[in-house]
Amino acid sequence: MISEQDVGGVHIKYLYHCPRQLWLFARGFRPEATSATVQLGEAVHDTSYRRAHPVDLGSARLDDLDGNLWVHETKSSSRPSPADEAQAIHYCYRLRLVGVDTQGAILRYPKTRRTQRMPYEPDWDERARTDIANVRTTVAQPLSPPRPARTRCRGCSYFDYCWSQ
Ligand code: SF4
Repeated sequence: MISEQDVGGVHIKYLYHCPRQLWLFARGFRPEATSATVQLGEAVHDTSYRRAHPVDLGSARLDDLDGNLWVHETKSSSRPSPADEAQAIHYCYRLRLVGVDTQGAILRYPKTRRTQRMPYEPDWDERARTDIANVRTTVAQPLSPPRPARTRCRGCSYFDYCWSQ
C-alpha cells in the first residue's frame, strides 16, 4: 500500500487521466521512459524553462517556485486539463505542509503560448487530501481498473500494453 507521503504529482496526474494508468505505474510499469510523448514533454520543458529552480519534495518534484512563492509548471500539452490543475494543487498542498505559504500556481503551455494563473483557494487542501486518498484507494485495488473509451487513450504511453491483447 502506498503511503500518503509517497503520493506525488505523477500519481495525481494519472488518477485524473486514467485510474488504470495510475494502477500500472504504482506497480512499477513504466513504458513512458521510451515514449515519444514523454520525450516531447521533456524537450518542451528543457527548452522553455532553463532558469527554473526545481523543488524536490521527495515523491513530488515541481518545476519551479519563484521568489513570490508561486509554483510554476510547464506542460507539453496544448491546454489546461483537470489533471494539470489537480497536480498544481497537490504541489501547493505539499509546500504548505512544510511551511511554505504558496500563493498559487502558474501553468504554462509553450505549444499554444497559454498561461493559466491559479491563485490559492481555501478548499485546495481538502481537494488535495481527497486526491491523495483516491490515489491510495485506486492503487490498493487487487485488479487493474478497466480501460476507458479508447479515444481517451490517444497519446498515452501505456497504449501498446493496454490495447495489444
Ligand atoms: S492506454 Fe488507455 S487504458 Fe491504458 S493506461 Fe493509457 S489511458 Fe489508461
